[in-house]
Amino acid sequence: MLARIQPAVLTLATPLPTAFGNVHERAILQLRLEDSQGNVGWGEAAPLEPYDGVTLERCRHALEAYLPVLGTPPRSGGSPGAAILDGCRAADPLPQALAAVDLALWDLAGQRAGRPVAALLADELLSEIPVNMTIGAEDRATAAVQASRAAAQGFRCVKLKVGIGDDAGRVAAVRAAAGPELALRLDANGAWDVEAAVRAIDALAPAGLELVEEPVHGIDALRQVRRRVATRVAMDETTAEPGAIASGATDAVCLKISRAGGISGLLAQAALVRATGAEAYLASTFDGPLGIAAALHCAAALRVELPCGLATLGMFLGVDSSRLSPVEGVIAVPTGPGLGVSPLP
Ligand SMILES: [Mg+2]
Repeated sequence: MLARIQPAVLTLATPLPTAFGNVHERAILQLRLEDSQGNVGWGEAAPLEPYDGVTLERCRHALEAYLPVLGTPPRSGGSPGAAILDGCRAADPLPQALAAVDLALWDLAGQRAGRPVAALLADELLSEIPVNMTIGAEDRATAAVQASRAAAQGFRCVKLKVGIGDDAGRVAAVRAAAGPELALRLDANGAWDVEAAVRAIDALAPAGLELVEEPVHGIDALRQVRRRVATRVAMDETTAEPGAIASGATDAVCLKISRAGGISGLLAQAALVRATGAEAYLASTFDGPLGIAAALHCAAALRVELPCGLATLGMFLGVDSSRLSPVEGVIAVPTGPGLGVSPLP
């Protein structure tokens, strides 16, 4: 196979404040694979250092280590894709980089079969995925404007970052602006300790909360918070901890293509989550079009019910996201062969 790494930079239209500081732009690495028949598949590595601690250089290093494996795929009696991924994993087991290979292989498989990736994964598919809008504003007035815009655009769920100041004021403003029907999800990115989380969630809950994502970091801390609050608790960053996904510590678990090592890894994680009785949903870490499309195919095959954090492409300048944009709070799953989207130039 021919393999090539193609970098791309995405610029946020508005810097996004998070518990880790302002995020202004993100760079990703795209991987192009071409088989001997001339079929082409694309994947992407989308590390986000402030979030997952993985630098772009670290990812590039891993992808370069994969090139010899991709150039001369290992022979195997089983699935050639699995053998290639095993070879890459042996060279460098970095999930964000493995995701690029996994996505490109699924895209390639879909191109060869002339079918969308979701149809290769499952029979009964969702054709559209409910998504949330994320409200990044740090002040009440702007948060209220963003919330009423979300409601007007047909979103049924908004996510508000908390643990960044004036949480009570912004939660109240968002609820007032969005109306009683909108599901209100909070994400603290682990900003609290157990006591602070319980206090904050109890204080904010009267506004009506769908769930609180990562109120604290750590399996045990999440379990303690969940035991002490009536609001549903979800795990996000903590899923990177060994044993977290199958721990059953939370009501819901947020899964990400990049962190899971791609589509194959995400499906395996979702099975573990569901085995504990918890609900799985998906989010991007400001992925490019290939990562968003991969997540949509997974969500379609998994028939995910909780709104997913995949309405993020519109946050970037100069990206033609028309095919992956939310309409009335849902994104249509691409129907073309493979991932069904083009890479960034
Ligand atoms: Mg989160």
